[in-house]
Amino acid sequence: MRNLERPPKDIELQVGYYCLDTFTPLNSNAYQAARGAVDCAVTAANAVLDGAHISYALVRPPGHHAERRTFGGFCYFNSAAIAAHHLRDYGKVVVLDIDFHHGNGTQDIFYERSDVLTVSIHGDPRFAYPHFSGFKDEIGSKEGEGFNINYPLAEHIDAEKYRRTLATAIKRIKTFNPAYLVVSLGLDTAKSDPTGTWSHNYEDFFKIGQLIGETKYHTVVVQEGGYRTQTLGTNAKHFFQGLWAGFFGEEKAQKKTNK
Ligand SMILES: [Zn+2]
Repeated sequence: MRNLERPPKDIELQVGYYCLDTFTPLNSNAYQAARGAVDCAVTAANAVLDGAHISYALVRPPGHHAERRTFGGFCYFNSAAIAAHHLRDYGKVVVLDIDFHHGNGTQDIFYERSDVLTVSIHGDPRFAYPHFSGFKDEIGSKEGEGFNINYPLAEHIDAEKYRRTLATAIKRIKTFNPAYLVVSLGLDTAKSDPTGTWSHNYEDFFKIGQLIGETKYHTVVVQEGGYRTQTLGTNAKHFFQGLWAGFFGEEKAQKKTNK
């Protein structure tokens, strides 16, 4: 079930090669929690179908590492992919994954489809989880060839490099011309996140949100990772303020925020 063309060289990674990981337990609460996250993501998708410009499924557990045949990375069901598949009945969809880790599950699920474009910006799998996918040359196959785009970035990058990459990703998204955008929002790109190596601060999250909001796509945001609890709230708040400002313009956004 693994990518047979990319066996890892590191011994510890080789052990993990045969098991997605050892930190995604199936206890008595797992189904209920994971199912709740899916329900929430579908509710968020329905809110956009009912006319909301932006909706947010603030869920745990995350979902983007859950593939068609495997689970792991704290993920059981791929909530964002389910929301995207649901939206697909009403127009073309892009899933933009901005979690620090590659969304291998989302890539796997849509890999042979051209009706959902999957785009991911993440730490290069040569050093970052999930290690076995997220490489640049994974572009989709069959019908889906050319509809999976990966932007693996180096272990240490500055915010400017990240924004340039995001701008490139957005250009590609515009050529696809989707009706809906699903954002897999990982806040583990933040400074001092225990699972990441980048250092976005709250102002960076504002700018990232703003760049995405400026596309004016009706957007469903699904929460993925993010583990530095001291700054999660601030970073999430600024991401949405940026998203809102990008979508509605700074002045209008200010008024709406005040309300
Ligand atoms: Zn992550």
